[in-house]
Amino acid sequence: MIRTTKTLICTSDTHTVAGSIGQRKNLTLGNEAVGLIEKLGSEVEGFSRGDRVAVNAITPDFFCHNCQRGYSSHCGEMLGGWEFANIKDGVFAERFHVNQAQANLAPIPDDLPDEKAVYACDMLSTGMAGAENADIPMGGTVTVFAQGPVGLMATVGARLLGAGRIITVESVPERMDLSRHYGADDAVNFEETDPVDAIMGLTGGEGVDSTIESLGAQVTFEA
Ligand SMILES: [Zn+2]
Repeated sequence: MIRTTKTLICTSDTHTVAGSIGQRKNLTLGNEAVGLIEKLGSEVEGFSRGDRVAVNAITPDFFCHNCQRGYSSHCGEMLGGWEFANIKDGVFAERFHVNQAQANLAPIPDDLPDEKAVYACDMLSTGMAGAENADIPMGGTVTVFAQGPVGLMATVGARLLGAGRIITVESVPERMDLSRHYGADDAVNFEETDPVDAIMGLTGGEGVDSTIESLGAQVTFEA
């Protein structure tokens, strides 16, 4: 049981409110939070009451068939690893419960404040997971479509995983600048040029080894 200290609103919360994952009733929203351990299950080792911890948005059990095959986001079933605000109460509360805490708690280093650590709970981890799932060959060329927060972290992930060249596709100038800051070699503006033509031109007609798409679903609200 975690006492919440910092939490962020995720686009998935707006999707949930808009009904894009089906009707949800009587569930607390929220899937990004850090906090202090208030109670620990008797079999959880290596953590103590009062520890500062980050909890990922996705909290798989890590022992089912899908998890064992490496698809922990799809624990049990499609998107089954997403438990907060989906199949159990989320983190927008004074306290929240973490299943399989041994595997789903991460200690926060002393010199990292909560308001920074909380960004690792979904944006960083989701982008990193996207880069991991892209099977980037060492020194390979990667395209990352869209450079919002998750896309930017996929760019970081691709760089950390050994990509040799990263081409990002975006149209917002500030995001294109951030993209280069976080490791992109080239940022293609899809409003100015056809991105496929641009990528083929930049790679001498060879194309890329891996592609990561970070395209959020469009959500429309009605008053
Ligand atoms: Zn599982």
